[in-house]
Amino acid sequence: MLPRKLLLRELITLRRFSTQAASYDVIVVGGGHAGTEACAAAARKGKRTLLVTHKKSTIGEMSCNPSFGGIGKGHLMREVDALDGVCGRICDLSGIHYKVLNTRKGPAVWGPRAQIDRGLYKRHMQNEIFNHTPNLEIVEASVEDLLIHENGHCAGVMLVNLNKPEFFILIESGAKINSKAVVITTGTFLNGQINIGLDVRPAGRMGDQPSIGLAETLKRLNFRIAVLKTGTPPRIYKNSIDFSVCEIHKADMPPMPFSYINKEVWIKPEDQELCYLTETTPGVEKIVRENLHVNRHVTEEITGPRYCPSIESKILRFGNRAHQIWLEPEGLDSDLIYPAGLSCTLPEDLQVQLVHQVKGLENAVIARPGYGVQYDFVDPRELRPSLETKKIPGLYLAGQINGTTGYEEAAAQGIIVGINAALQVEGRDPMLVSRTEGYIGVLIDDLTTQGTNEPYRMFTSRAEFRVYLRPDNADIRLTQKGYDAGVVSKKRLEILHQIQREMEFCEEVLRSTVLPAQRWKPLLNLQSRKTLAKSAYDLIADSSSKATISHLRQLLPKELECLDGTESVWQRVTIGSIYKYFEEEQALEIEAIKKEQALVIPRNFDYKTPKLNISNEDREKLIIYQPQTIAAASRISGVTPSAVLNLMNCVKFSTQTNTTGELC
Ligand code: FAD
Repeated sequence: MLPRKLLLRELITLRRFSTQAASYDVIVVGGGHAGTEACAAAARKGKRTLLVTHKKSTIGEMSCNPSFGGIGKGHLMREVDALDGVCGRICDLSGIHYKVLNTRKGPAVWGPRAQIDRGLYKRHMQNEIFNHTPNLEIVEASVEDLLIHENGHCAGVMLVNLNKPEFFILIESGAKINSKAVVITTGTFLNGQINIGLDVRPAGRMGDQPSIGLAETLKRLNFRIAVLKTGTPPRIYKNSIDFSVCEIHKADMPPMPFSYINKEVWIKPEDQELCYLTETTPGVEKIVRENLHVNRHVTEEITGPRYCPSIESKILRFGNRAHQIWLEPEGLDSDLIYPAGLSCTLPEDLQVQLVHQVKGLENAVIARPGYGVQYDFVDPRELRPSLETKKIPGLYLAGQINGTTGYEEAAAQGIIVGINAALQVEGRDPMLVSRTEGYIGVLIDDLTTQGTNEPYRMFTSRAEFRVYLRPDNADIRLTQKGYDAGVVSKKRLEILHQIQREMEFCEEVLRSTVLPAQRWKPLLNLQSRKTLAKSAYDLIADSSSKATISHLRQLLPKELECLDGTESVWQRVTIGSIYKYFEEEQALEIEAIKKEQALVIPRNFDYKTPKLNISNEDREKLIIYQPQTIAAASRISGVTPSAVLNLMNCVKFSTQTNTTGELC
């Protein structure tokens, strides 16, 4: 039963529809991870926004893994937060095991991540959307068609009531709602069908109807559509697992929040849950290989996620070895475990046998089988960098419908469409994030210029400017931009300004504290015999000294202690100092490349030559794309500036020596 206040709001919304006068600035279709960010952003910009979604109860649903963030994905979350988005703050209220990944590498590629309590996430997200988002109305229905004005502009949606509970009686099937912009974020639902063994059922995900009408509409409007697939593992009862044979993984102490405005997360550090690591035995491979004939999802010629593959595709690609399985808690009070890495689509009885072939799961009881889902997506090259479709002005797409996979990728696109749909209503130019400003820019540029033929997920290797695009500085990169676009509050901007003032003060104190090396040595255990005086800033910038501000504390002026939120300011200054030199070097490389943009790469250029000193990944991409100019090479997603610089030098050298017949 809905609370009275909500029911009243619902009835008011529905009455408006029934009078045929319903009209909104922005309509968002779908209340998943893209949709919630999109409607919250448009509403924050003061636009009258309507969210139409199949079920209110699934707003904030995590369709697959109970976790947020990770390498590359954590960067996206920080950027969404820097634009005052929702998902980071909600994760700070619902995480149960926070861990920054990749800490053995530099902080630029650290990946903030957390296991999330599904129930808590949903509850907090629904609370945010239902009760703390002014200008937003929500209706439970299915969008089956789009209203297109005779000038070709998208003018609204046509609804079908899926469930018809009694308070919904006012929505007639076919009700039309006008709006100035429409955002579609329908995830895996377009023509969705789920597979277990040979069983195929129409569904957007388990327990949810697919979106057929809207899929037809997009085809009728001549959008280029293709099919992708993904899958989810069986869920296992915790009390049936033998954790004693698994490797224990503890959370970080203290946990690092996702949101810049939070100094801590909701859970006490010591109350965090554990994760466990185990692995497959050869029995898993045997079951997979012997049963391919009853595994439709695997044998279908449709591309699944390369970086989050099913156990079947891992075995078919990399047989004869053990595969890691992470046992992750689904929630504080949940009796279920999510076995990450064990996504499979075998018939249910074979899934039981397969699970029993994993160490520690010999007697495991499956609560729900794994399944695969295949769905239509729109070629994202149909989109402008604002994520508006090129064909239909006023129509925007975000999330899995654009060929991506993952909550974070969806949220990142969601916030951008919400902002841009609202800006269009105001008659303003879209807010674009470039590849040099954020991972959001990398994501959108990759999608809209190159499209994708497999579910696209974010990695730090996709970003050429990754020494600058760090999780510690997303607010410095994007919050002012968001404020100028009207999506970030003044209060939020002031928090950033306060942090920046503290960082500047801290840096100044560190630079001006110059002492002879002998004075620093006892604090640092310095190996160096150098006796030159050094500033505290130089010491922490020198990664070989392993100095942090905490180490040097005794010799630093007392003023540093009084900084509000000291530790995070200290950490940010330390990280900034480490990367200062690399940032400057990267800026020079970018300048050099810019100057030679028009340089033509000879047709017969040999990308395999050892003289081209670049990574195999860069080389592979250059061979595939065969760019004609340096400008084209620098636009290839994931090819680093230093690889382009190297290519540029090699091409210049080869064209100079070409007269003597030697090619690079
Ligand atoms: P969703 O979160 O799917 O939300 C779509 C919303 O749109 C839903 O609320 C739906 O009810 C609503 N909707 C659909 N059609 C209509 C309509 N016509 N009218 C009104 N409302 C509509 N991600 C990974 O990173 N790794 C994985 O391994 C992985 N595995 C997955 C396995 C499965 C089985 C599924 C279903 C998803 C998986 N995902 C995985 C994907 C992840 O769930 C999505 O990337 C993410 O949820 C996409 O967010 P979204 O907002 O685009 O869509």
